[in-house]
Amino acid sequence: MLYIEMSREEAHGGGTWGFPNCVWAPTRKKKGAGTWPFWNKVADLRPGDVVLHLRGKLDKAHFVGFSNVAAPGFETFQRPPEPGEWGYSESFYRADLEGFTVLHEPVNLRALFRAHKDDFIAYFEKNKKGERRNIFYVLQAGRLQCLNGAYLSDVDEELFNIMFPDVSQPSGAKTREALVSVPTGTQLRTVRARIGQREFADAVKSAYGNACCIPGCSVADPRFLVGAHIARWSDSEALRGNIGNGLCLCLVHDRAFELGLFTLDEAYQVVVNPREIAADTPMCRELRAVEGLRIRAGSVPPLSDALLEHWVRVDIVPWERHESSREARITAALG
Ligand SMILES: [Zn+2]
Repeated sequence: MLYIEMSREEAHGGGTWGFPNCVWAPTRKKKGAGTWPFWNKVADLRPGDVVLHLRGKLDKAHFVGFSNVAAPGFETFQRPPEPGEWGYSESFYRADLEGFTVLHEPVNLRALFRAHKDDFIAYFEKNKKGERRNIFYVLQAGRLQCLNGAYLSDVDEELFNIMFPDVSQPSGAKTREALVSVPTGTQLRTVRARIGQREFADAVKSAYGNACCIPGCSVADPRFLVGAHIARWSDSEALRGNIGNGLCLCLVHDRAFELGLFTLDEAYQVVVNPREIAADTPMCRELRAVEGLRIRAGSVPPLSDALLEHWVRVDIVPWERHESSREARITAALG
């Protein structure tokens, strides 16, 4: 998922709480006036999410860079050294960031509003009637304005594309006003690629009933499950959002699959890596015990293209295993 952090002041918290180490917000409004969705969102952040930083006041507000979320957001009674006007709060939400990337050129928000005004307005009206995402701007008396206090807001693919038409695509630069330079556009493409990863993971997990699909594995606690990619996210643009490129795996089986300790054949049966099969480790013993068994089927079967990519990447030829295991079965049957 992608979020915008909108902040007017530079320090914002100071110390390890300062920009761009983390995003943080008070957990409640002043004098028990309730909670605020643009603050609660900090607690929703998960590794893999990306935060775009919008900084500065009014006409000077610029998108200056983006960061990756390093660890899940949490509530804490520790305090920022410079809490500013939020010093009243007893506790705070905080999510740590990493990999801050400065945009080659900051992108001025007012210029974006001006250039794509109709698109921004159409998105605002549509959002009001439909999804009601917490977005960072409002339409007031025909003018686009930042929404006061919209500290951390949602950005879906549609809104992202309104803000940053893909200038790194040859056709994009010609058809849209080039407010974003080509190098900045290239940086933003990496951000674009991340949108939807969380939706993908959630959809994959629910397709498998929120349980690890490896036979005999009993992990069904969402905190220990991932919606894993069969073909790597970075390797296959075509398969990216496709649920058939996903498997619901527990953290251990995800790691084993990623490392190529096993793959699945075209009948979705576990195939242990022949180079690992003799290894006398608990992991390999466990995998050997389920070799040849079919995974628990989800509502969307794995795509053969995705499996093929995994076989190539981890260098396992599943039908070779078939040959030897069939021979073994025949021998056993005859013997
Ligand atoms: Zn498992």
